[in-house]
Amino acid sequence: MFTIQFLGAAGQVTGSKYFLRTTTHRGLLLDCGLFQGGRALNDLNWNPLPIQISDVANIVLTHAHLDHTGYLPRLVKSGFSGQVWCTPATLDVTQYILRDSGHLQEEDAKHANRHSYARHKPALPLYTSEEVEKTLGFFHVQDRHSKKSLPDDMSFEYSNAGHILGSCSARIEKIEMPSGLGIDGNPAKRTISILFSGDLGREKPIYLKPREAPPAADFVVCESTYGDKFHSQIDPTEELFAIVKEVLAKNAVLLIPAFAVDRAQELIFCLNALMRDGKIPAVPTWVDSPMATEVTSLYEKYSNEHTISSEELKEPDKNPLSFPSLHFTQTVEESKRLNDLKGPAIIISASGMATGGRILHHLANRLNRPETIVLFTGYQATESLGHDLVNGAKTVTIFGQKIPVAATVQTLTNFSAHSDQREIMDWLKQLPTPPKRVFLTHGEDGPRTVLKSVIEKELGWNVALPKLNEIVDLTAL
Ligand SMILES: [Zn+2]
Repeated sequence: MFTIQFLGAAGQVTGSKYFLRTTTHRGLLLDCGLFQGGRALNDLNWNPLPIQISDVANIVLTHAHLDHTGYLPRLVKSGFSGQVWCTPATLDVTQYILRDSGHLQEEDAKHANRHSYARHKPALPLYTSEEVEKTLGFFHVQDRHSKKSLPDDMSFEYSNAGHILGSCSARIEKIEMPSGLGIDGNPAKRTISILFSGDLGREKPIYLKPREAPPAADFVVCESTYGDKFHSQIDPTEELFAIVKEVLAKNAVLLIPAFAVDRAQELIFCLNALMRDGKIPAVPTWVDSPMATEVTSLYEKYSNEHTISSEELKEPDKNPLSFPSLHFTQTVEESKRLNDLKGPAIIISASGMATGGRILHHLANRLNRPETIVLFTGYQATESLGHDLVNGAKTVTIFGQKIPVAATVQTLTNFSAHSDQREIMDWLKQLPTPPKRVFLTHGEDGPRTVLKSVIEKELGWNVALPKLNEIVDLTAL
């Protein structure tokens, strides 16, 4: 027996968790992500998982994003005490992300109690900073392109997914012992392999090393975030240029909800290029995220993950991740001081879907002002505040307060760290042999249904759209 159970990201883009169970009943959890978005998705994080936590012996992480790692402290709180595997860069980034998440969980609960808008009284954090520290004690690192053996005749091997620092696709192999003897007279043996794409990056990322061609596998679990879309062909720096020109013309404050890892740095990289080329003046720019400065130092440590040289990063005049009018805030007081900031100026702050973090305070403060431009540069899950704003909401509720939207809201999808339909298809076409089945996950039902029909039509492969908590026996296929 070798089964897969889809415990998240099955018809949604968040909550990635897939449990592979063997005959011993124990098994491996691939990713351990938080559901993010609206209330219904957040509630899923509070439901107990439909598996025994003691059955999870190992966890293999594809990358550090919260929707792939953010449930780990909750699992530890529920009794997990096995091993968590990831690449060295993923470990460093995950530490920042989980510590930030633990802190935010505590802050949000406190804020809700103080302002009495909690649905459950008192509001509790999903987990605490203390539980995050305990979780980090279970981590082990594994480099790409080196097979790691695990108990229960399983092993895994990473390859580059080109999505963020440290990101991977993971190929899991299980040795099966069906009854009877093989032709050599020894007990028969066969292997079953399953490749998890992880979040797939772009064919030509801004500066990350591009993803690798996938290895052969019997089954593929593939992401489908943009399964029905094609990203713009225009250089993202040029698209950003057009928006900054508008900011300058209107003396506007540009608010960019962006993740502190990679996206904030990509935006800095493009702004640096525009200033270096003399296309825009030195616009005052604040990165209001305590995580961003720390993460920027990881670019030097993990120079094998990207194409910026260590020499460039060390020289202030040459560093593409810096410019003279760029500031990083650390304290809450520094962040609050930005409330009085006059345009033209740029504030980059997390989170990217405006589901939490300091960006909520900036949006609450500036959405009602017509001189505000809000720019989304990534995927906006249904029910997230970002999704409402992108779709033209006239009023939004932040911290229990109704806020009229007078700001201009814009979107640039070309900054996306996810493949679009063509790029996913190109990756699948690189598989050395057709898989027995492709499971499409990490996409809402619309996009993954479109991608399913494209794969069936172009490649003639068997494609499934697993439902949340569905179990599939891979040995029976
Ligand atoms: Zn991701």
